[in-house]
Amino acid sequence: MKTRSIEVIVPPPAPHYVGDGFRVHNFIPSGYHLDMHRMTPFIMMDYNSKFVFPPSAQPKGVGVHPHRGFETVTLAYKGKVAHHDSAGNSGVIGEGDVQWMTAASGILHKEYHEEAFSKTGGEFQMVQLWVNLPAKDKLSKPKYQGLTHEGIGKFELPDNAGVIEVIAGQYQEVKGVASTFSPVHLQNAKLNKGGKAAFNFPSHYNTALLVIEGSVNVNGTEAAETDHFVLFENDGEAFTIEALETSVVLVLSGEPINEPIAAQGPFVMNTRQEIVQAIDDYNQGEFGYLD
Ligand code: MN
Repeated sequence: MKTRSIEVIVPPPAPHYVGDGFRVHNFIPSGYHLDMHRMTPFIMMDYNSKFVFPPSAQPKGVGVHPHRGFETVTLAYKGKVAHHDSAGNSGVIGEGDVQWMTAASGILHKEYHEEAFSKTGGEFQMVQLWVNLPAKDKLSKPKYQGLTHEGIGKFELPDNAGVIEVIAGQYQEVKGVASTFSPVHLQNAKLNKGGKAAFNFPSHYNTALLVIEGSVNVNGTEAAETDHFVLFENDGEAFTIEALETSVVLVLSGEPINEPIAAQGPFVMNTRQEIVQAIDDYNQGEFGYLD
């Protein structure tokens, strides 16, 4: 097994607001080598670093909008988010929970701070990923997986190093609860100070880390601080992280979907013609109805 080397450690880009409820750093796609192909199947990553929202009588968030052709995966680290969609699914996710929404053929949804959280305000920290779908699955039926922290499989590391929470894919014998359309590993490494974890994914899988809390030493060579994104080369399988303090690290790795990407706003298809079709279908009301 060969060590996977670090390509670049990306500091958090200047934040912007999505709606009025998500203050995000966009890591993918952005200027730092990270276009929609570089981390495929992960084609978008917005990170709301820890931010204190003041109390608000009206829940902040993003109003009704469409998606087609991919999945939105939202991970809550602090605060609570509510979701409603035109397929009739809804849910609230809080600390440690994950919402895995398959837009596929098309849905409308809205994403808001949960009502009680909104009223009290407080620390809010979230990641939203867009996971692309293979062409053959882009027009499949929408679905929703609400994954609770309790239901997410956990691997206890030896020597009190910490725990790996396996949202998707596999770590040692623990399998992820999320069902995915292509091979995806999505894991939270929660490490105690000095705790070490080793990972091993096929070298052609696109792989990265996001440091949610604390700081870690990667491969025993380079330190990555809070809110930094570590992009790996595709030159080996194995890497290690060691917590320099109590840390939480999101680990992403996935088999590339090597197909053309045509993206416009909330639609991600393979060709221009399919984008035109998506806009047409949306305008015709084919994505359903949501108030
Ligand atoms: Mn959305």
